[in-house]
Amino acid sequence: MRGGSIAVVGGSIAGCATALAATRGGAERVTVFERADAELRDRGVGIALQSDRYNELKDAGYVAPEMPWAPLTRRVWSVRDGEAANGRAIGEQPFPFRAYNWGSLWSELRRRVPEDVDYRSGAVVSAVRPDDEGATLRLADGHEEHFDLVIGADGYRSVVREAMFPGVSAEYAGYIGWRGASADIEGLPSDGLDAHNIVFPGGHCMIYRIPDGTGGHRLNWVLYTAPPQTDGLHPDLRTPTSLPPGRLNSELTDHLRTLVAENFPPFWAAKVLGTPAETTFIQPIYDLAVPHYTSGRMALVGDAASVARPHVGAGSVKALQDATALEAAWIAGDSWKDVLERYDSGRGAVGSAMVTLARRMGSTQVENTPDWSAMGQPEFDAWWQDQNSGSDRSSGFGGHSLKVK
Ligand SMILES: Cc1cc2nc3c(=O)[nH]c(=O)nc-3n(C[C@H](O)[C@H](O)[C@H](O)COP(=O)(O)OP(=O)(O)OC[C@H]3O[C@@H](n4cnc5c(N)ncnc54)[C@H](O)[C@@H]3O)c2cc1C
Repeated sequence: MRGGSIAVVGGSIAGCATALAATRGGAERVTVFERADAELRDRGVGIALQSDRYNELKDAGYVAPEMPWAPLTRRVWSVRDGEAANGRAIGEQPFPFRAYNWGSLWSELRRRVPEDVDYRSGAVVSAVRPDDEGATLRLADGHEEHFDLVIGADGYRSVVREAMFPGVSAEYAGYIGWRGASADIEGLPSDGLDAHNIVFPGGHCMIYRIPDGTGGHRLNWVLYTAPPQTDGLHPDLRTPTSLPPGRLNSELTDHLRTLVAENFPPFWAAKVLGTPAETTFIQPIYDLAVPHYTSGRMALVGDAASVARPHVGAGSVKALQDATALEAAWIAGDSWKDVLERYDSGRGAVGSAMVTLARRMGSTQVENTPDWSAMGQPEFDAWWQDQNSGSDRSSGFGGHSLKVK
């Protein structure tokens, strides 16, 4: 299928990859509408890509070795054990992931967007009106534009999805991710090649080294737990949305800091508590599955299409895979209908499977945590396999293979 005018709403990871896919697929004119008015805000946090999935995406031409990364080989799960600096390991597992800094990953993808793509920053799409020949975008400044195909890469609150499936929205999972990146990487065990999960009743904290974007490293961490249920909670958490740095209320920050001080082994508590509080931020955790990835002349990619809780470590992988699948459907299809049907049938099932696995992992890793302190390696292995229904490979942990249909 050649030609056509394409609008991509959202210019983050999924949006940049989709602009590349549309160009390679043969679109005549591609326009990206990105709400942020300059460079997308870089909070310096990490994204981990499973190595096999990375290799597939590299072969497909969406990621490349020159994107700065830090290798991870193993993940160690630990509990506090009195004053033992690193606590006690309850389980270890292979963890073949590549750790990225979100900002540099995005910059590299942005650089790959072909020059003839019209990437408009500060362009907010307020509504999408479909018709038989495509869809019209209404921008916040009142201006309207018609396209043959509109692709929603606009994240979990997608305006394109609202036009496709009114009322289908992301549901708050009941807990948050508190995130930060510390400049203090002194004394990391195993030269920083291990990822660490510090576990406690009601949640855990994943910690790993990422590139800092200037040739060095930072220590990325994200702590998952339910916020306290008090009347004094920040209003934004009662209607969940991201709380950027500097907007965390002191009640919530105090709660999280106390939790770390009481439950983390001293070495890891110092790393997390040493991160300047005003640079940390909150991301509420969501679930989202859609009935289809396409409707009429509209399609969804990345978080706009499905949001799996981050425990599966595959949101960015899925976003990039969605784009590669769109490119393949574009090349194989001979009409818009054909292209969109191919795309929907290829990606819909993957998105739902990831959401199901992520719910299961969130339930046992945060909402209904086991008695971690009673675990050793055999109990840990059984617990992990139970979440994965047998094996990491078939479950989709780290992402499903592009090669498996
Ligand atoms: C705590 C946490 C940890 C994670 N860890 C990992 C990990 O280790 N590995 C991994 O693979 N994934 C991870 N993920 C998931 C990953 O971050 C996302 O799946 C991925 O970034 C999705 O990218 P996206 O481009 O689809 O959406 P987004 O990054 O949300 O981008 C949407 C873009 O659309 C723009 N936009 C929105 N609305 C409009 C509008 N109306 N008009 C114009 N523009 C608009 C926004 O400004 C934004 O730039 C994690 C997620 C969380 C919350």
